[in-house]
Amino acid sequence: MEQTGGLSALREADDPADMRGQGHPALMHFDAVRRLFVETGLPPDPETYELFWLHATGADPALSRALNTRRAAGMLDAGVVKELRRQHLGDIAAAEVQALLESAQASAAALAGGLDRGRSDLKAYDEALSAEDEAMAVTRDVRQLGAMVQTLRRANALMMAANRRMEADIATAALETSRLLERLDSAERAARTDPLTGLPNRRGLLDAMKKAVKAARDGGTPLAVALADIDHFKRINDQWGHAIGDEVLRCVASHLQTQSRRAAGDGALAGRHGGEEFLMLLPGLSTPEAAAAVDAARAALARQVLRKADDGQVLGRVTFSAGVAQLRADDSADSLIDRADAALYGAKRAGRDRVMPEKPAARA
Ligand code: GH3
Ligand code: MG
Ligand code: MG
Repeated sequence: MEQTGGLSALREADDPADMRGQGHPALMHFDAVRRLFVETGLPPDPETYELFWLHATGADPALSRALNTRRAAGMLDAGVVKELRRQHLGDIAAAEVQALLESAQASAAALAGGLDRGRSDLKAYDEALSAEDEAMAVTRDVRQLGAMVQTLRRANALMMAANRRMEADIATAALETSRLLERLDSAERAARTDPLTGLPNRRGLLDAMKKAVKAARDGGTPLAVALADIDHFKRINDQWGHAIGDEVLRCVASHLQTQSRRAAGDGALAGRHGGEEFLMLLPGLSTPEAAAAVDAARAALARQVLRKADDGQVLGRVTFSAGVAQLRADDSADSLIDRADAALYGAKRAGRDRVMPEKPAARA
């Protein structure tokens, strides 16, 4: 009896509706994800879950807008999930990879065919040569020898033509292969790049972070990251429209990229973490050094008065808030970003337009 009571109490606590009452944001997101699965009837596989989760947390407003449009039209099916992942999470479409593979297989098959033809030409040539060779050994007739020389010449000419064909086949196959590699390379690059700003997207940032974390650990050097979020960006969109909002995003993106490199060299980079939020990777810098560099970037941007390019109309000043954290021994990329995010939250709460370093680690 007691056990049943315990179990049903557990079940109640597990019901997202109940936990929503407790107000934990992650549980609200979880509940939103669950409702999406119920509504769409899609299987809860990790790919769909990840997409729904990003939508529920509001981490990528462009993704949420696109998802909501499809959802309102009742079109949120497995194909749309794939397409949204491709556009917002940088998945390379299976169809694209399949097409590239089929193309590669076709050119490999064409080349193999060419080589087969070459082999049979060579065999025919070899047979012609050895037949004439035997004949030559037994004949002394000059006219017959002349005819044999003619036959050999023809066989030679045929063989040379076959050789040229094969060379052309090989050249074509090599060209096709290098074109395929280029296409694959550009598909991969596109999957890691944010189309609006040209900076690495979330996926590109994660790859770069993994490399930077490894390099910092191998070299025993510090690595700082900063999360920068534009202040009151919604107002810019509301007042000037989405297209100007996009321009402002490009402008801030390029500013942060330049300033990251200036502060931490060629290994530094800025990427679009989502929406109007950017991540800066600053190898070689400690938290105080990175906070000073990001604050200089903040001040430089805040000093500028932005104008519309076409009519010079003043848009005003754009500021951002940022949180800075430094890699620790037990960090993963996620835990490092989480601490920068907590510091960013502190900067927003303290009034925006400022840079906040993470709290020092608690002493063991
Ligand atoms: P806060 O200072 O607290 O950060 O306020 P905020 O207005 O910047 O933050 P909020 O999260 O309320 O709004 C962010 C806005 O950014 C809402 C969203 O529409 C806009 N946004 C996100 N991605 C894009 C984009 O690609 N282009 C444009 N134009 N707007 C975007
Ligand atoms: Mg903002
Ligand atoms: Mg934001």
